[in-house]
This record gives sequence, structure tokens and C-alpha cells, in this order.
Amino acid sequence: MSRTHGNSALVIGGSLAGLLTARILSDHFAQVTILERDPVQDVPESRKGQAHTRHLHGLLAQGQHIMEQYFPDLGVGLQSGGNPFVDMGQSMRWFCYGGYRARFEFGMKGIVTSRPFLEWHIRRRVMALPNVTLRDSCVVEGLLAGENNSRIVGLRLAQADKGSGTQDLFADLVVDAGGRGSRSPKWLEELGYSKAEESTVTCGAGYATRIYQRDAAQPGSQDWILITPEAPREYRSGGALPIEQGRWMVSLGGWHGHHAPTDEEGFMAFAKSLPAPDVYNIIANATPLSGIFSYKFPFSLRCHYEKLEDFPEGYLVLGDAVCSFNPLYGQGMTSAAMQAAALDKLLQERPSLLGLRKPYFRQVAKVVANPWRTAVGEDFRFPETRGEKAPGTDLINAYIDQVHRATHQDSAIGAAFLKVMNMIAPPASLMSPPVMWRVIRNMARRRLA
Ligand SMILES: Cc1cc2nc3c(=O)[nH]c(=O)nc-3n(C[C@H](O)[C@H](O)[C@H](O)COP(=O)(O)OP(=O)(O)OC[C@H]3O[C@@H](n4cnc5c(N)ncnc54)[C@H](O)[C@@H]3O)c2cc1C
Repeated sequence: MSRTHGNSALVIGGSLAGLLTARILSDHFAQVTILERDPVQDVPESRKGQAHTRHLHGLLAQGQHIMEQYFPDLGVGLQSGGNPFVDMGQSMRWFCYGGYRARFEFGMKGIVTSRPFLEWHIRRRVMALPNVTLRDSCVVEGLLAGENNSRIVGLRLAQADKGSGTQDLFADLVVDAGGRGSRSPKWLEELGYSKAEESTVTCGAGYATRIYQRDAAQPGSQDWILITPEAPREYRSGGALPIEQGRWMVSLGGWHGHHAPTDEEGFMAFAKSLPAPDVYNIIANATPLSGIFSYKFPFSLRCHYEKLEDFPEGYLVLGDAVCSFNPLYGQGMTSAAMQAAALDKLLQERPSLLGLRKPYFRQVAKVVANPWRTAVGEDFRFPETRGEKAPGTDLINAYIDQVHRATHQDSAIGAAFLKVMNMIAPPASLMSPPVMWRVIRNMARRRLA
């Protein structure tokens, strides 16, 4: 363990990115304090400040791999919810582009849980570290700067109930993991720094989610089920994930305002309107255990901190606070884990914190580049999508159409696709000559048929 970087670090936000950051910093700082606005109880439940965690969350293989590196017994904890690790290819029931993807042995095992259950297991492990403290019910109100504002030296804190004045906390490093609503751009502007350039691409996504009872003994009850649209002809999607304690989490939704209603009848009708019956069949026969919750996500947002010339020492931003993608592609938690791992590597390599921000934001930009391209590229299939569209997007989308269709029969293409989707292979690997050849052969066969 190398606690060479200073006495103390502060982390804004005690959600997934904040917890992973605290885990990493605990190896490099004598004391790490997480500051969280919500009251945090020792229970696997969503909080007010992260209402999105009530909705369907899939953990990609890359994210799972990183989390297991930092928490080696995480898998054991997650299995205590009653779900086993299952092969990701064999347990997949995914309807897209007019057919089901072929199921096959992928060779990588994953576990499905609700997002609060995953976060609870991570939080328990982080809180067990002797040098990490979580202060809940407190709001970070601003940054404290020293040396002509060239360095962040701490934070100003207020109790969430606003009743008891403010407190200043000082540290060698501050990391903002405050999520999509991060106030870093505003705080930095107040200190005289330029605002980071932002990229936004609209998607008009909406979720409606309900929990149902699941009979874990039924055949197929460990399958993860997705129905995704043949864009731009279809806009609607649905998913049913077998979460812990014998329950299904069912989320219905879609792009550009095609959102499921939150009343019983409308929710069922929306499920019935999907291009495959799997999700409807589950909810038509299962007992609901919750109400129907909704969540809207109007656009993907990326802050280009890597482009700023001027930025204070002692301050970093991580997770959704840097980039939040259209959640329908399931990349946010893995992106946060990859950013945290990149921070760890830099802290191991560098003798001091001085100048850390440049290589850090360069690494973050690298981590975020592929999932951003994939998410917004897919969103540009819909004519309503607005934002900066990379050259060649339509051509790539036309090719990926064929990849999707080929996965109905060809498990080699299915495996190549699952690797990219799980962020363990770059999107360019789908353009490699062997994959392209198989995609073209599949297309020709379908045309002949
Ligand atoms: C509907 C939906 C579905 C998603 N599905 C998936 C999925 O399938 N797979 C996946 O990998 N990702 C998914 N994501 C993304 C994923 O939820 C996030 O990427 C992940 O939660 C990391 O978020 P975070 O910790 O950066 O921010 P958040 O989870 O937003 O947490 C920010 C925290 O900071 C606290 N905070 C904010 N400001 C302050 C302040 N000033 N002072 C103190 N505390 C503060 C908040 O209370 C909150 O707890 C989804 C997102 C949405 C919206």
C-alpha cells in the first residue's frame, strides 16, 4: 500500500462513482472522506439524489472485472441475493431487428442484481476500510481555493437541512463524483476558470419501471431479457432482469418521447406493443411488488475537461459528472469504474499530485470516447436526434444493422458483438476482416433466402 500522496482526500458524492473513487484513494491517502447530500442507511435502497437507481441497470463485463479487482469478495456478496453467476451468452434472451440473437456459450459469467443491491455491497466494503469515512446529509456548496485560485485546497460544506451554518474542510485532493448535476462547471467559473466545452446529443429517453415476483424454479427465470427497437422504424424497448430475492425488474421505455405510461393499463399496453412478447408474458402472469416509477433522460452530456488549458491543481472530476450517456446502452457504471482504475494507475506512477489533472483528464477522455461514440452513434439512427454527428455515422449504423441481423444465426458475430457491448473489445473490432466477412456472408444468405 502506497499512501504517498498526502494526508487527506475528499470525494463529493457517495453513489457508485464516489464509492469506487474512495476505494482507490484509500490506497494513496491517509484519510478519505466521502461527502453525500442524502442520508445514507445501511440498506440496499435508492436515495433521493440518485432516483435513477430504481431503474434497470446492467453491469457490463468490463465494469464487473474492475470492481472484482478492487473488491475480491464482491461476487460472493452479490450471490447472497440468491442469483448465481451465469454465462452471459447462454442466459441472454434478446430480441432485436426482427429476431432473437442466437444464444451461445460466451465464456464470461455475469450476475444480475438491482443497482441499489450492487451499490450496497460496494458501500459496505468501502466503509469497512479503516481510513474511509462517509459523512451523509451534508451538501458541498463550493470549493476553497488557495495560491491565487491555482489550487483547490478544500470544500465548503453545509448540513442538508440548512439549519446549522457551513463548515470548511481541507484536503490535498478533491474529486467531484457528484453525478450528472455536478456543480464543478459553476464552481470553477466562480474562481475565474473557463467553462469546459460540453457536447450534448439528444435522445429523449424515458423509463418506466416496476418490480414483480419471480419464481426462480421456473425454466428461463435466470434469463436476462431485452427487446430493443429496429431503429428508426421502432422506438420502443423493454427489459426484464432477474434481480435478487426472487424478483423481476421490468423497465419499459424508448427514445424521443416514446415512453411507457405509469398507469397499470397503459404500462401493460406498452409492453404488449413491443415487437416480441417476452416482457409482456412475464408481467401478465407475475404479481407486482411495487408501483410504477418513471425517469426521463433528455440528452447525453459530456464535459471536455481534457480541452481546458487552465484548471486548478488538487481537483478532479469523475463518473457521470464528466460524462453521462443515454442509459439505454448500460455504460455508465463501467465508464466510472474505468475512470477510477485509470486514476489509480496514475497515482501509482506519479511521485506527486502536481500536474496530475492533465494526464488524468486525457485518460478519462480516452475511457469515455468509445462508449460516447457508440451511444450517440446509435441515437443518430433516429431523425429527431440533435447534436454533433461524427462523419460516417450513417454508414457505420447501416453496417451495424447487418451485424445485429447476423447475430440471429451466427454466434461468432454474436460473441464479437457481446465483447464490444461489454466494453472488453473496441467497437473497431466489429470491422475486422473476419467479422466483416461473416457479416457479408450472412447478409448474402439472407438475401438469397
Ligand atoms: C435510468 C438510468 C438507467 C441506467 N442504467 C445503467 C445501466 O444499465 N448500466 C450502467 O452501467 N449504468 C447505467 N446508468 C448510469 C449509472 O446510473 C451511472 O453512470 C452511475 O450511477 C454512476 O453515477 P455517479 O456515481 O457518477 O453519479 P450519481 O449516481 O448521480 O451520484 C451522484 C451522487 O452525488 C451526490 N451529490 C451530488 N451533488 C452533491 C453535493 N453538492 N454535495 C453532496 N453530495 C452531492 C448525490 O446525492 C448522489 O448520491 C443508468 C442511468 C440512468 C439515469
